[in-house]
Amino acid sequence: VSTTPSASAVQRWALAIHGGASALPKTLSDQDLQQIEGTLRDALETGRRILSVGGSSLDAVQASVRVMENSGVLNAGRGAVLNHEGFAELDAAIMDGKGRRAGAVAALRHVANPIDLARCVMDHGQHVLLVGSGAEQFAIEQGMVPKLASYFVTERRLKELKEAVEATKHPIATSDLAEHSKGTVGAVALDAHGHLAAATSTGGVTNKHWGRVGDSPLIGSGTYAEDGLCAVSATGAGEYFIRYTAASEVCARVKYAGKPIESAACEVINEIQAAGGEGGLIAIDSAGCVSMPYSSRSMIRGQVRSDGHWEVFVESPE
Ligand code: ASP
Repeated sequence: VSTTPSASAVQRWALAIHGGASALPKTLSDQDLQQIEGTLRDALETGRRILSVGGSSLDAVQASVRVMENSGVLNAGRGAVLNHEGFAELDAAIMDGKGRRAGAVAALRHVANPIDLARCVMDHGQHVLLVGSGAEQFAIEQGMVPKLASYFVTERRLKELKEAVEATKHPIATSDLAEHSKGTVGAVALDAHGHLAAATSTGGVTNKHWGRVGDSPLIGSGTYAEDGLCAVSATGAGEYFIRYTAASEVCARVKYAGKPIESAACEVINEIQAAGGEGGLIAIDSAGCVSMPYSSRSMIRGQVRSDGHWEVFVESPE
């Protein structure tokens, strides 16, 4: 498991983000790489602006994720991976550590910013998870203008889908493809008032069956936050993260076993890897300590803290 060495200082507020635990394809141009790095910087800066003036961790994680959804270069919102039928089908969740409120949406084909709809579900208060056409209808009721399916589709994702469909006919060649056929974006934050929040948004995995829902919108699997403990956003082989309830498992180890966030997060990623699932997560505890372990070849990630520390990692494809 790789992790971030600078994980331990206590901070007044902190924000960590990820852009997916997925190796970037070798075919990615320098311009694409710069755009990914620029997106991460924008997402961090957007969250920083909220947290540095005493804004809430909830608003910060939502705003950071929204920037990544709009980028066109990460697996969320516009530019997300495509399902077998060629549609982007999007999942997202947000959780407020204060009062453990949560909202989530899944299998959306027409909502530009699933994280905003997840927030509406949460604020509406009646339900936690809305899916498919019921969620799309709710988006319209909330004043969101539906997007055409074509809004989400990029050349790169069309090519990846074509390759993935081809690769199923020649399974021997699939491992490299599997590495970059997923991704997800997420954010976790501690605000100056001591509240934690987590948000995750994804297109899931390339060539997925329509209707497939991953871990990202499932509270406790891909997304979790509990004040006084930690907030977590995961990325990787969703089916494993669901079965291992990865995000709440990290918090449970902090809560019941008294583990530091770094050990709790690394243990969970190690156990999922031992079971055959690759991926990573970002986690933050109530003191602002950040942990970002991953078992995949790389994880796009970054963090900013109230002491001025700022870092972004986007490994170039090998
Ligand atoms: N966890 C996401 C899913 O399974 C994909 C990813 O993060 O790579 O939907």
